[in-house]
Amino acid sequence: MINDTRLLDTLLALVRIDSPSGEEVAMARELKARLRNLGLRVELDAMHNLVARLPGQGAPFLLAAHMDTVMPGRGIKPVVKEGIVHSDGTTILGADDKAGLAVILEVLQNIVEENLPHPPLEVVVTVQEELGLLGAKGLDLSRVQAKMGVSLDCGGPAGTIVVSAPSQDSLFAVVHGKAAHAGAHPELGINAIVIAAEAIHNMRLGRLDEETTANIGIIHGGTARNIVPDRVELTGEARSRQAAKLEAQTASMVEALQVAARQFKATVDVTVTRAYTGYAFTESDTIVSKLMAACRAAGVEPNLMPTGGGSDANIFNAHGMQVVNTSMGADGEHTTDEHVGLSDMVTCAQIVLRCVRGLVS
Ligand SMILES: [Zn+2]
Repeated sequence: MINDTRLLDTLLALVRIDSPSGEEVAMARELKARLRNLGLRVELDAMHNLVARLPGQGAPFLLAAHMDTVMPGRGIKPVVKEGIVHSDGTTILGADDKAGLAVILEVLQNIVEENLPHPPLEVVVTVQEELGLLGAKGLDLSRVQAKMGVSLDCGGPAGTIVVSAPSQDSLFAVVHGKAAHAGAHPELGINAIVIAAEAIHNMRLGRLDEETTANIGIIHGGTARNIVPDRVELTGEARSRQAAKLEAQTASMVEALQVAARQFKATVDVTVTRAYTGYAFTESDTIVSKLMAACRAAGVEPNLMPTGGGSDANIFNAHGMQVVNTSMGADGEHTTDEHVGLSDMVTCAQIVLRCVRGLVS
């Protein structure tokens, strides 16, 4: 039986431990102790991702979450009011992804305590997820045998199952203009800011369709009021759940930069990197059908949905695994309004427990 008091206590204890991305040592220590107490073998890889194992019968199954949180996330003081956990309003709560961790720990506790039949369980808790899935990207996958599993890193009501996620291209461009004194010889200069502005003006940005988005998020340039700027740096991205659309969008952003540079007799260097690769599952994929069955057994109608964001599941799936992201119950993640309902977390834990047990029944 999922113990709601214990689940709440676990969440409260975890959110009180600071773990901004890159500073996860104390959190890793706490998780290691808790998992060892439950009888799991725990190791850290070179990135300090945590991998823990509980032997069982059949094919190994992955339970994944991340241990870092976004800012403002130091000194979190959780407040429980009418079954909902909030922060005190000055920080995030950190339910993303400590609600996921609390759910995983509660599921394991149930299995161990009640000696329930289960497959071999591999718990992977990554670091630096919020910095761009860095922990998952650096994860030593030779330590992970599971080919299938769930990641407890999505908000929304219990029963939410993310079945598709976009690929993302990151774009970094440097526009090279020509410096000149803005008052004495402006005609000798080539204004890199003007070129960047022209390029951005000609880009399609924002929401392009229901599965494609694009953004220029950072722009840096110029050194002084009276100097024609000779250098501007732009950082942007494009995402789509359709590979062809992403390719076309990224190419059009690059082209806008090149056309603008040519127009002003300047040059531009553009670097495009694939930040992560998307995935798409359907109801006929084993992990989705197992999880849907678990939702229904827990009395919840599953809600299959696409997402516009990337998560560690993208990295696992790019390595040929079948990992879907499912809800840990939180809402308002990455804001100071972040909160999670205890009854939602309990339902999420029941779903995961039923899913795991359903693999050996
Ligand atoms: Zn998260």
